[in-house]
Amino acid sequence: MNCVFCKIINKEIPSRIVYEDDKVLAFEDINPQAPTHILVIPKKHFSNLVDMDDKELIGHIFMVIKKIAKDRGVDERGFRVVMNCNSEAGQTVYHTHFHLLAGRKMHWPPG
Ligand code: AMP
Ligand code: ZN
Repeated sequence: MNCVFCKIINKEIPSRIVYEDDKVLAFEDINPQAPTHILVIPKKHFSNLVDMDDKELIGHIFMVIKKIAKDRGVDERGFRVVMNCNSEAGQTVYHTHFHLLAGRKMHWPPG
């Protein structure tokens, strides 16, 4: 499968990893939209959230997001979690991923 995030998981292409366990990988976004911009992904390939049916894994991803936010010291200031699902939402990489954004004032509504 020609999936860029599977290649990152398999260490076939480099990334700046910030967290890893047997189920989840988190790494710096290559084109950061905020001072903290980390992608948290399941190691198992799912195209997007619609294809994800593993409640435990989804819950685990959010626990990892919380841990990273805490470790970065942005949990009190605030952070945003974004998951773009399919084309109208702007999904460009079809291996589901959760963006953790922090370090600047966020706007609402999102673009
Ligand atoms: P989305 O538009 O929600 O599908 O987000 C895809 C994200 O993946 C974008 O923020 C890209 O900057 C990021 N991205 C694409 N390729 C890489 C890569 N090789 N390493 C790190 N981040 C990447
Ligand atoms: Zn993949």
